Amino acid sequence: MGKTIIISNRLPVQLQISEGGIVATPSVGGLATGMKSIHNSGESLWIGWSGLTDEETPEELNDAINIALEKHNCSKVNLSQEEMEGYYFGFSNRTIWPLFHYFMEYTEFELDFWESYKSVNQKFADAILENSDEDDIIWVHDYQLMLVPQMIKEKRPNAVIGFFLHIPFPSYEIFRTIPWREELLSGLLGADLIGFHTYDYERHFLSSVRRLLGLEVSFNDINIGNRVVKVDSFPMGIDYKKFRDAAIAHNALAPENRSVLQKRLDDHKISAPDTKLILSIDRLDYSKGIAKRISAFEYFLNKYPEYKEKVRLVILAVPSRSNVPQYQLLKKEIDELVGRLNGELSTVNWTPIWYFYRSMPFKNLIDLYISSDIAWLTPLRDGMNLVAKEYIATRIDKTGVLILSEMAGSAYEMNEALLINPNNFEHQAETLKKAITMPKKEQMARNMFLQKRLERYNVEVWAQEFMTALKNQIENNEAFV
Ligand code: UDP
Repeated sequence: MGKTIIISNRLPVQLQISEGGIVATPSVGGLATGMKSIHNSGESLWIGWSGLTDEETPEELNDAINIALEKHNCSKVNLSQEEMEGYYFGFSNRTIWPLFHYFMEYTEFELDFWESYKSVNQKFADAILENSDEDDIIWVHDYQLMLVPQMIKEKRPNAVIGFFLHIPFPSYEIFRTIPWREELLSGLLGADLIGFHTYDYERHFLSSVRRLLGLEVSFNDINIGNRVVKVDSFPMGIDYKKFRDAAIAHNALAPENRSVLQKRLDDHKISAPDTKLILSIDRLDYSKGIAKRISAFEYFLNKYPEYKEKVRLVILAVPSRSNVPQYQLLKKEIDELVGRLNGELSTVNWTPIWYFYRSMPFKNLIDLYISSDIAWLTPLRDGMNLVAKEYIATRIDKTGVLILSEMAGSAYEMNEALLINPNNFEHQAETLKKAITMPKKEQMARNMFLQKRLERYNVEVWAQEFMTALKNQIENNEAFV
């Protein structure tokens, strides 16, 4: 086998152009961390968009950018503003994203978006073919690039291709509404291994393949002519050690060396020792159920008024896709809900919700995780939800309660959490009460199991298991032929 070629919409580096030159800094997102063990060990090349459109890239700096990226084993696919509008903000985020998260009412079926998606996928496929050798292993990531596997296979039938979908795959009844459903399925089937986070997403995909393409599916194998496409679930983990070590280092800090945020959180603990902090962290996305959570919190405070001044909800909403109209509307809705609730219920000693609309540096995320008695995550639909796993990983003394939506992929592996349906306010109010009053011993018993599992199935294991399954699949196919 040759090199590993990793393909995703975005490269795992941030480019900064300044007078001093080009600086490429590695990013710390989930995928970048997940692929670290593969990307940094031995021969590998990551192909993706640099984060700068053609219009934002000065012609004379192009070579310098390529050299800066090469140092990180990265190669860029150039995209214009127009291509980003159609392929990324259009088809990826106004068609696939809402539909695959069951938001039919937000889904737009625009022919122009689809055309742009196809041509940009072709650009990625061409970049892969140009930058790889016959014996390389190709791993394509996520919903922006679903046509790429077939585009490669057409030109290079012996290519070894894996594909992983990081978002849910919807049920057949939802998926069938897409005008270009057959093309999307065929695009994916160019891969030799297709991975999902959960067994349910896998099942939905197999059902669509059977019913829309009429292909023979036996267990999780799809027979296409003389080759077999394997479909399997690989729930993505986190870099457990990184979060745990950060929490240990944080606890060892002298009070004067703590961050400003941590000092404020400490002050809060001192001034109101029996007020529980409830944390939620999400990108500001309609799939995350942030607005519903605020309403459920109001419901809880009205149902159990004895908890007024005894709980505080911290909402960290990270700006996301703010040029898509639904995201702008959602931002407005959340601003208004927080304003109204705080306006109606605040007292001189108490603000029910602390709302941050920004992204925070890693050390402040750790501050929030460590200082919160409860994490309350209520996605209406979520491929995985890594925040749930990160919260548990930072709980060094094993205390803390995780309340997690059963609509998150991570709920399948986190049975010891308190699982809720985000639409059921009554049950959520009871669950919040249960979390607030849960004895420490029970918290620790639940978290012990969760931590063990997260440690064992960390993100490195996830990536290695996928690669091993891909290599096995190729051996099986060779034996089959
Ligand atoms: N995160 C971050 N900065 C922030 C808040 C969150 O980098 O200010 C990270 C968080 O640590 C987690 C990721 O964003 O790793 C969110 O992943 P998740 O799977 O929960 O949701 P997604 O945003 O991928 O839908």
